[in-house]
Amino acid sequence: MARYTDSVCRQCRRENLKLFLKGDRCYSDKCAFDRRGYPPGQHGERRGRKPSDYGIQLREKQKVKRMYGLTEKQFHLFFDRAERQRGITGTNLLVLLERRLDNVAYRLGFANSRVQGRQFVRHRHFLVNGKRVDIPSFLVKIGDTIEVRDKSKKIQALQDSLDAVVRRGVPQWLDLEKDGLKGVIKGFPLREDLTMPMQEQLIVELYSK
Ligand code: SF4
Repeated sequence: MARYTDSVCRQCRRENLKLFLKGDRCYSDKCAFDRRGYPPGQHGERRGRKPSDYGIQLREKQKVKRMYGLTEKQFHLFFDRAERQRGITGTNLLVLLERRLDNVAYRLGFANSRVQGRQFVRHRHFLVNGKRVDIPSFLVKIGDTIEVRDKSKKIQALQDSLDAVVRRGVPQWLDLEKDGLKGVIKGFPLREDLTMPMQEQLIVELYSK
């Protein structure tokens, strides 16, 4: 599967937004976007031409795709699924992305980024409803419990992430039992719960062409 192998921070600079892909570093003065908040590349500092409608839609799609760390194919599959659901396709898409197990691990503070959440899921550090799940794209349901396996509870990176979640806060649709390293899905997020600047309608327009 194609993987992004370039500098992670370039993605934030390209999208002109902090995507919070590197955990603690994103909150420190080492953040590349804070230090060089212009697009990467030789001509990055120059003011470019006014982007076309297509360019704006494309950037929005790239931004959300990168935020959740997906390949084009994975992202498109999520879009197809969102389109088949009832309701507003753009909102469906964002809710589906939020329901991914790697994202939930990040949101609960069991990982300091979605990338780390994915790694922890693959390394089988979590149980969903008491069963081991090692698929990052696994979609959680309302009422599911996600807990850290006993033998994984002492992992330092995981403990550090839990400390850092105080700064980020746990979304209202999740319930974190910090001492037990356990979380419960109380409901699915509402659109207003997703506070990162995302214009999902632009993605729908892009894929509808
Ligand atoms: Fe983006 Fe984080 Fe890198 Fe800053 S440190 S540019 S927020 S990934």
